[in-house]
Amino acid sequence: MECKAMKTNELERVLEEIEEKDERINSFIVIDKEGISRRNIAKKGRLMHLKIGIKSNICVEGLRTTAGSKTLENYIAPYDATVIEKIKSEAGMIIGMLNMDEFACGSSGETSYFGPTDNPSCPGRIPGGSSSGSAASVAAGFVDCSLGSDTGGSIRNPASHCGVVGFKPTYGVVSRYGLIDMAMSLDQIGTLARDVRTASLLLEVISGYDPRDGTSLNLDKKFYQFSRNLNPNLKGKRIGYAEEFDKLIQDKGIKKVIRGAIDKLSSAGAEIIEIDLPNLEMALPTYYLNVYVEFFSATRKYDGRRYGYRIEDVCGEEVLRRILLGKFISQKEHSGKYYRKALMARSVIRNELNSALNKVDVLAGPTVPKLPHRIGTKIKDPRVMYAYDIFTVPVNLSGNPAGTIPCGKTNGIPVGLQIIGRPLQDQLVLDIMFGFEQEFMK
Ligand code: GLN
Repeated sequence: MECKAMKTNELERVLEEIEEKDERINSFIVIDKEGISRRNIAKKGRLMHLKIGIKSNICVEGLRTTAGSKTLENYIAPYDATVIEKIKSEAGMIIGMLNMDEFACGSSGETSYFGPTDNPSCPGRIPGGSSSGSAASVAAGFVDCSLGSDTGGSIRNPASHCGVVGFKPTYGVVSRYGLIDMAMSLDQIGTLARDVRTASLLLEVISGYDPRDGTSLNLDKKFYQFSRNLNPNLKGKRIGYAEEFDKLIQDKGIKKVIRGAIDKLSSAGAEIIEIDLPNLEMALPTYYLNVYVEFFSATRKYDGRRYGYRIEDVCGEEVLRRILLGKFISQKEHSGKYYRKALMARSVIRNELNSALNKVDVLAGPTVPKLPHRIGTKIKDPRVMYAYDIFTVPVNLSGNPAGTIPCGKTNGIPVGLQIIGRPLQDQLVLDIMFGFEQEFMK
């Protein structure tokens, strides 16, 4: 009894400390000081003692699940997402709900109704997005790991900018039941942590078949044992690098760090193989056209009657842009011109990526093409913001697994190395990330 009381006091103290330090960083929207999310958790389990933050678009029963928007400012989730049920059943300690770009639309964390999040690894700059709080809370040491969602890079982009590990699994490996959708055919929940083992452990817990998600995959149990199976061996691994990466990286410093990381992989016994991705540049327009249409449809439920406010009345500029463009593109007379073309381009990109991957074990390259800008920098042209996503969106279009691992710094700003695998080769991607971390980042 006494021991339990002490533990509660200890946690209260930790939460107060987080609250105080987070005033500057703004990584949390809700800190669960009342313990609503910890009421019915298992006494023992694989996540015992781990402090976990949840992106605000994943439903946690009894907590405000806002999706970073005024639309859902006062929405209290009435049930747990499948991933949350699983965390609770393994004794994971949920600390609160994390900041994010509004409805996950953004690459900087600045579109949140709850204000921008700072980057703990390079203060004054954006942490990336849309899972801005998920990366910043891990980088600041507030939590051990967090959940994010990745529709076009929203886990990998902020993980790279904040210098932490981020992983997006193969589409269908983690249930989306209870995730506030942005673009359903692209959305995937994944994990962030300071090391590959913790990110893999959380992934191991949250993944698995879920009959409540129609796109959930039913795979052999052994598939899901990510942290148990981690193997750091890099020797003999065939790793592809595309010359298009060099062309599209906008920052010399990033190019140098990524090149250095590829050399390191080679020095550890991996074979580096040049591959081509000639249509890589097409990935951005293809992604955004797909997103506009699906996002428009996803937001029709926010009509002011069921959940909070009517979205068009209260949302920010970026969300409104996507709704209006989605509406326009979805009109019958335009569907052949834009959406059908975007779907065709999507299969071109998927085929190109997977034929490149057939020649190698994984691809390695940059996660983001440019350094995180200073918070508040005026960006008038949305395409300048979208440009952050060039290297992350292809795998969402194709459903492949990909992760990012810190591989160095330029001007004191973290740079992440992205590893991309074939569909269902999640373990291999994690293994290469683990190998790189063990060999070079310890
Ligand atoms: N930055 C991308 C966008 O704004 C990706 C967002 C995401 O993955 N949720 O659409």
